[in-house]
Amino acid sequence: MTDPIFVIQHHLATADHYDVRFEIQGVLVSWAVPKGPSTDPRVRRLAKRTGDHDLAYADYEGVLGPRRGGGTVQVWDRGTFRNISRRKGEPISAAEALDEGHLSVDVAGEKISGGYTLIRTGGDMWLLIKHKGAGADPSSEPTSALPESVLTGRTMAQIAEQG
Ligand code: MN
Repeated sequence: MTDPIFVIQHHLATADHYDVRFEIQGVLVSWAVPKGPSTDPRVRRLAKRTGDHDLAYADYEGVLGPRRGGGTVQVWDRGTFRNISRRKGEPISAAEALDEGHLSVDVAGEKISGGYTLIRTGGDMWLLIKHKGAGADPSSEPTSALPESVLTGRTMAQIAEQG
């Protein structure tokens, strides 16, 4: 069995944000993260749980029509992940972890890697936190250091212009 996929899409709509999506039970379970992922374990990024998306949407890059919410979408990072969630020390499934409001993953992307945890703080609101160790780098901000698409190499401005 191959590892499930994750994707992070930079989405410039009414508000600028990064849609962080993990393949769980055949769909892309999604959060909108206004500032995108950090590589600094001391940073907590707000993440709002949004609607699940079809797996096919993971490769989408372009300009959305108004019926789909509008805005420019870029495949900012993608790769695979492993669920490393635990409850009282025992491994639990990603679906159980979602229900618990405490999902931990080990991601292997082109830009970000290593452990991340999503913790629900109430309602649809969660926090995205980088783990110490692999992939951690407090001195860098990956969204500004690595702004191009991993799919096409394009910037947000080029996608907006070309569609
Ligand atoms: Mn979005």
